Amino acid sequence: MDYQKVLAEIAAELQGIENIGKVAAYIPELGKVDPDKFGMHLLTTDHRHYSVGDSEERFSIQSIAKVMMLTLAFELEDEKLWERVGVEPSGTNFNSLVQLEYENGIPRNPFLNAGALVLCDILISRLSNPKQQLLDYMRKAAGNPDINYCPRIAESERLTGFRNTALVNFMKSFGNIKNEVEVVLDFYFNLCSIELSCRELTQLCLFLAADGVNPANSERIISSRKSKRINSIMQLCGFYDEAGEFAFRVGLPGKSGVGGGIIAVLPGEYSVAVWSPKLNQKGNSYKGMRALELLTTKTKSSIF
Ligand code: GLN
Repeated sequence: MDYQKVLAEIAAELQGIENIGKVAAYIPELGKVDPDKFGMHLLTTDHRHYSVGDSEERFSIQSIAKVMMLTLAFELEDEKLWERVGVEPSGTNFNSLVQLEYENGIPRNPFLNAGALVLCDILISRLSNPKQQLLDYMRKAAGNPDINYCPRIAESERLTGFRNTALVNFMKSFGNIKNEVEVVLDFYFNLCSIELSCRELTQLCLFLAADGVNPANSERIISSRKSKRINSIMQLCGFYDEAGEFAFRVGLPGKSGVGGGIIAVLPGEYSVAVWSPKLNQKGNSYKGMRALELLTTKTKSSIF
């Protein structure tokens, strides 16, 4: 498959369409990004790299980092994890509060803000230095010692994180947050602040296309059984109330972030990352979704 040709065609086709949507300005630091950035990178499990556009430029990966939070929490907690968070699609947007009341403070899935906040709480209880240990885990998975939190973005999230603050307090009232609210929020805001390029993101998540092993250094990140399950959660919950649309149009397990990035994997074949900061109404990258739809259409490959 000539992926380089396919990526070049996708970039050319997308240049011709109107870039609708809005940059996520509710976190002020994210509002400063150039809305017309576009990058895409594809990395095969046999180490071939293909890229187009701004694929080497770092951006805020936001909720894409929740994939690694889930991977580490699942690795440590095993099936016990599912006592505190579900694995069902929510049909609600990423920072919704409504379902939580009906469902006694147990978030539907780990990719909702509420779900990721519970995972932060679990790792805080479990680890001696959770922020550092999560970074170390991500660095190992990516083979990249330069993965770091961005204090500027974390602070911007903290200053405007009223919803997330409400979510933690609400869940604490149900007994599903064990640690101090401020400590849980600090970990969560840092998690969301990580900046990576499309190239780095494909390296970080390639293990999900390779049965839980990073093919670059043969390092096992998670068991094959758990890798399969993380992919299934990405498939069903990675795009909030647009997960159905993403499965319908793209057909790959994936995860979006409000920084305009998306990661997706075709198990056994590749990981692919795309970045375009303007978001549709559901908080997912408008051109990013279009790009991945074109990729699976042109290559006639998806998990379906
Ligand atoms: N930091 C963002 C928030 O908590 C993450 C949301 C996202 O990327 N979908 O609102």
